[in-house]
Amino acid sequence: MNESLGRLRSALGEQSSYDAASQCSRCGYCLEDCPTYIATGRESFSGRGRNQIVRMLLEGKIAKPADAEEALSTCLLCGACTAACYARIPTADIALEGRRMLPGNPSLPAVILTKLLARHPALFRKLLKTAYALKRSGLPRMLGPLLDLWGLGALAEAERAVLAPPRTFLRERLSLLPGVGTPAWFYFAACGTDYLFPEIGLATVSLLDRGKGPGAFLQNACCGLFSYNYGRLEDARFLAQSNIEALERAGGEASLVADCSSCASFLKSYPGLFPPDSPWRSRAERFQSRVRDVLEILPDLELSEEGTAPKPVPAAYHESCRARNGEGLAPPYPLLRRMAGESFRDLPESGVCCGGAGLFAFRHPELSDAILRRKIAHIAESGARIVLTSSTSCLIQLARGLSKYYPQARVMHLSIYAAEASARTHGSQTGS
Ligand code: SF4
Ligand code: SF4
Repeated sequence: MNESLGRLRSALGEQSSYDAASQCSRCGYCLEDCPTYIATGRESFSGRGRNQIVRMLLEGKIAKPADAEEALSTCLLCGACTAACYARIPTADIALEGRRMLPGNPSLPAVILTKLLARHPALFRKLLKTAYALKRSGLPRMLGPLLDLWGLGALAEAERAVLAPPRTFLRERLSLLPGVGTPAWFYFAACGTDYLFPEIGLATVSLLDRGKGPGAFLQNACCGLFSYNYGRLEDARFLAQSNIEALERAGGEASLVADCSSCASFLKSYPGLFPPDSPWRSRAERFQSRVRDVLEILPDLELSEEGTAPKPVPAAYHESCRARNGEGLAPPYPLLRRMAGESFRDLPESGVCCGGAGLFAFRHPELSDAILRRKIAHIAESGARIVLTSSTSCLIQLARGLSKYYPQARVMHLSIYAAEASARTHGSQTGS
């Protein structure tokens, strides 16, 4: 059997996975908040159903654990059920504990990817650059079918989703920044911004620099969320330890800012990876106290207080599940309204998952698409032409959905939107 956490940290305190799952009273309050239940109407695809399945797994009452695979693998881990639950049952973590008990988990592609990300990041970067070069050459038209043939359809789908692979990774650009004596902030480069959307990281760094003074890039490792979600706890711990040590080495008290809410949320959850009696627990707690999602930082930056010119394009905001349910962050509506002015549009169900959820969209394309279509229909209803968000998984998923179902709109990371608004303000103040 695979390694499991065994005990979970939640609003109920620290308890065993079994106690956490058993705490579910089956009241059903969470049903209408669960995107997979809404899309399918199936009890086993709800938070309540998944809690019962894991409890039965732990009791040994499911003769063929593989029977639980469908229900557990289709959990988006969005946390909406926990937010709706009076007892705050940590269903996503319970579902992950259940997944770790299933035969065949982690899958071979997940093992390869997490191994590369965690233990061989330099090799991963080389392979990715080669894949990007192939993509630019037009060869992926052959690469996709080959991956499909090898049973790696999820990777083939992921490869197709990357429309414009960057030539230079974010960390290569940030490594050129001049050194700073006492940094006012540290920047955490998420894998999504590093390898797919370096322009987001550059926008965040420029906003931080302008609003808080000079800071520094942490030279961090992957946050470990991918390893955690796909069954490699030891790799997730290894990455957490690497990042904790990196921030300790960097010293000072400055915040560590991440501009992917999925990563920020996971960085804040590091203490739960270590047992209470481990020295790593208190180090993880100190680390956690310094982590800030860019959503928390932007409204306080002076550039926001100076005012930003409204952009005359209707804009709406989609909440990342990790920001909303993982970090408990409210959308930065005052900032958004200040930047977008009259162009800001309310988005119905802005806090409901878009169906991206890491590799979910590639592993469960039909279910993901059903959830996505509902999201895109709300965006179209709002009349927005720009959809703002804060997680790279949402960026990829919404870009796919918009190009398919509502090409009049495009998705944009909040940092880019804020940097553009700030540049306009700066330009208008200097008369340029
Ligand atoms: S985490 Fe999301 S998808 Fe999973 S059971 Fe809860 S609400 Fe449903
Ligand atoms: S997870 Fe919470 S809200 Fe959902 S059925 Fe169980 S106790 Fe009720």
